[in-house]
Amino acid sequence: MKIIDQLNGNAPVFSFEFFPPKNADGVARLFESIEDLKSYQPAYVSVTYGAGGSTRGLTVELVNRIQNELGLNAMAHLTCVGATSQELDDVIGDFQNAGLENLLALRGDPPQGEEQFKTTEGGFAHASELVSFIKKKYDFCIAGACYPEVHPEAVDAEADMDALIKKVEAGAEFLITQLFFQSEDYFRLVERLRARNVDVPVVAGIMPITNVAQVKRFTEMCGAKIPSALLQELEAAEGDTEAVREIGVRYATQQCRQLLAGGCPGIHFYTLNRSKATRQILETLRDEERLTPV
Ligand code: FAD
Repeated sequence: MKIIDQLNGNAPVFSFEFFPPKNADGVARLFESIEDLKSYQPAYVSVTYGAGGSTRGLTVELVNRIQNELGLNAMAHLTCVGATSQELDDVIGDFQNAGLENLLALRGDPPQGEEQFKTTEGGFAHASELVSFIKKKYDFCIAGACYPEVHPEAVDAEADMDALIKKVEAGAEFLITQLFFQSEDYFRLVERLRARNVDVPVVAGIMPITNVAQVKRFTEMCGAKIPSALLQELEAAEGDTEAVREIGVRYATQQCRQLLAGGCPGIHFYTLNRSKATRQILETLRDEERLTPV
């Protein structure tokens, strides 16, 4: 099913993101988490694409299993890093053969150790070019990434907005945000899109914090800011795994409440391949009747 049709329904939707594990044990644990979360009936489940296409085969295999064995609506992420358009076309063909109807088209980050993104000869420089390429030949529902706190490489917010609009004009039907911790950043981004007459749904990407060092590393990489009060609370609890997870779950639940109350059409959980924190948030939101399964 095309995700845009789910987003155009009456109720807000929720979805889960997973990454391809490094070994067979990790894959087994991942499927335990997916099975665990499956009963919550997510609108869709997405699988990331490793840096430089390193997980190409595994991403294809995982979305195939999620879609065809587990019967969940799957979306594959795809990046332009280190690939020619022909190589990307081959992967897109694999996704099509797996029966997928949804792709998240990304530029990708520079490979580890490199400062700047380099366009591969015969490849693409921006996500919008990948979106156009897919749109010309295939019938996928295409999503794009967006940044409530502005993409770290963008000259300024205005240039980032111009680039985002190009991505939508190229055919991205909905957007998923980078992780963020202040709801006003999400609302500001949506407001700026609407002011430019862009009305695509903007799904909020939420990462429940479960580990202080890990969230510091992630936010450093993607440019998201942890509010100082939250950071202080987390640092005071550091070392107590359960206390940190409780703070992370409480904060993410409150963020979801604010976002849903403000009209956000979907919450995409960055699960980090674990189910417990996401499950707790969903239970609370369900009890409060803020989210219903599809
Ligand atoms: P783009 O939209 O191309 O933007 C990148 C930069 O270029 C921005 O600064 C933008 O302002 C600028 N820009 C874009 N178009 C133009 C233009 N026409 N002219 C001038 N400047 C332009 N990474 C992975 O490796 N694998 C994943 O699976 C993955 N999943 C992600 C999922 C989500 C929901 C998000 C938000 C990010 C994900 N990422 C993933 C990270 C993503 O690859 C990086 O954030 C990357 O740096 C930018 O990708 P993009 O698709 O937003 O690029």
